[in-house]
Amino acid sequence: MRIVLLGAPGSGKGTQGKRLAEKYGIPQISTGDLLRASVAAKTRLGRQAKAAMDAGQLVSDDIVVGLIRERLNEPDTANGFILDGFPRNLAQAEALDAMLDEIGKPLQVALLIDVDFDILMKRLTGRRTCESCGQMYNIYTSPPKVEGRCDKCGGRLVQRADDNEETIRKRLEVYEEQTMPLIAYYREQGKLHSIEGEGDIDDIFARIVTHLEGVQ
Ligand code: AMP
Repeated sequence: MRIVLLGAPGSGKGTQGKRLAEKYGIPQISTGDLLRASVAAKTRLGRQAKAAMDAGQLVSDDIVVGLIRERLNEPDTANGFILDGFPRNLAQAEALDAMLDEIGKPLQVALLIDVDFDILMKRLTGRRTCESCGQMYNIYTSPPKVEGRCDKCGGRLVQRADDNEETIRKRLEVYEEQTMPLIAYYREQGKLHSIEGEGDIDDIFARIVTHLEGVQ
């Protein structure tokens, strides 16, 4: 299954993408994660991307399209993939379509996780991630048993550098202006599936799976 996850920052793309990857045995590919790894490793690409990321702006299309092209060449994508955070504007969506057309494996589903804007703010400011195993928490809605520590592995919980109020506002603005037009783009292609992204994480996942069952 070849899937794009669409949704604002904080809509749950990462959480649901991880579950989908486990269920279908296909990789979840997050450009945000790939970029953060490059920043942490202080590569040339990471240095180029850092300023835009810190400001809540989009990193240049050349960089992210290049990252995706490389990643989709890996053998573990043969049976499909879940793209999380890519594409984020029309130019990226068109580049992706062209890339997939070349290999005769077009995108099958664009899954929109729909969440109200006021809920997103709370989700993003409360978000914490285990620096060891990547498990996600929210200090308001799903806190760890011991403050600052991961329930699963005891690792330290950290806040993403761009999860502060000012950058969050900017990221939501960028989503509205640049990424939301993709909803119409995929609707016109007949690939858009929209699901209600509020409420219990398990219920949301069940709704997603029901939608995907109709797609081969
Ligand atoms: P995310 O983890 O998806 O919220 O991404 C974090 C940040 O990485 C974004 O605010 C952007 O600065 C950058 N980023 C991630 N994916 C993309 C993309 N497809 N295009 C441009 N910038 C991106």
